[in-house]
Amino acid sequence: MIDAHTHFYPEYVSENPSKWAAERGETYWAALVGPRPDGKRSLQGFPDEKKFLDDMDAAGVERAVIQGWYWENPDTCDEINRAVSSFAAGHSDRISAFAAVQPAFGDRAAQTAKRAREAGFCGIGEIHDGVQKFKYGAGGFEKLAEACLSEGLPLCVHLTERGGRNYHGKVATDSLAAFEAAKKFRGLNFIFAHWLGNALFDDAAAAAELCSQNNVFFDSAASPLISPHNAWEAAVSAFPDSAVYGSDYPLRLYPKKFIAEEMKTIADESRENVPRKHKKAFFEENIKIALKRRNEKS
Ligand SMILES: [Zn+2]
Repeated sequence: MIDAHTHFYPEYVSENPSKWAAERGETYWAALVGPRPDGKRSLQGFPDEKKFLDDMDAAGVERAVIQGWYWENPDTCDEINRAVSSFAAGHSDRISAFAAVQPAFGDRAAQTAKRAREAGFCGIGEIHDGVQKFKYGAGGFEKLAEACLSEGLPLCVHLTERGGRNYHGKVATDSLAAFEAAKKFRGLNFIFAHWLGNALFDDAAAAAELCSQNNVFFDSAASPLISPHNAWEAAVSAFPDSAVYGSDYPLRLYPKKFIAEEMKTIADESRENVPRKHKKAFFEENIKIALKRRNEKS
C-alpha cells in the first residue's frame, strides 16, 4: 500500500511552528498551525521521522509520498525541500518526496523542477493557486509546467471544494483553470488532490471529461474531513484508472476521535470501502503509473 499524499516538517519547525512561519512570511500556514479563532486545536500534527515511520507500520503503508507544502515564499520551499530530501534519502525504501515550488516565481520553480530528480524528488507540488497567488494561464505556471514536462515529473495540484461548508483555512482555487492546464499539457501527469476538490461529487460532468484523459489522476487526501461518506466507493468505482490513495497525514483527519495524528484509521476506512477489484490499482498501481516518465509509459 502506497500513501501518495502526506506532509512532513523537520523537528526544528515543529518546536515553534508559528514563530518559524512568521519569520518567513508564511502567513497562511501560520494561521493553520497557530491558535485558531474558534479556540479549537490546530488540525496539523508534527510527527518526527521515527513516529512517521511507526505510523506507517501501524497503518500497513509500505511507502509514503511526502508532498511539498504550498509555501508563499520561495525561500521556504528550498529550506523545507532540503529537510524532506534528507528524510527520503535516509529511508529510500519507505519514503518518496515531491519538491515544493512557488509558481508565482516561475523561473525559480522551473529551476527546482529541473534539479528535482538529482535532489531525490519524484514529483513537484502540491501547489495552490489561491494561497500562492498565481494563475494557471500565466507565464509563471507555464514555465513550471514546461520544466515538469521536460523532466517527466508529475505535478500535484491542491483543489478546494467549491461549495459545501466553510472551515478555518479554506481558500478558493480556480479549479476550472487547473483543469484547462491539464488539457493543455497533455504530456504532463497531474494529480489533483482531494477527489479533484470534490468535483467528482459536485461537478460530475467536468470530472468525467477530465478523467477520460490518461494524464489525469486524483487522490483521496483529507477525505474524512471534507468528502461524503460514500466517497471511496463512488470515486474509485467511477474512475478506477485515475484514483490514487492519499491520506494528508499528519493532518488530524478524525479530530473528534484522536488528539494526535495517526495514519491507521483512514487506511482501514479506505480498505473497507474500496471495492476489492479496484484495490490494487487504487492503493498501488495508479500512483506508480503517475510517477513514471511519460515516455516510459508503454
Ligand atoms: Zn496536502
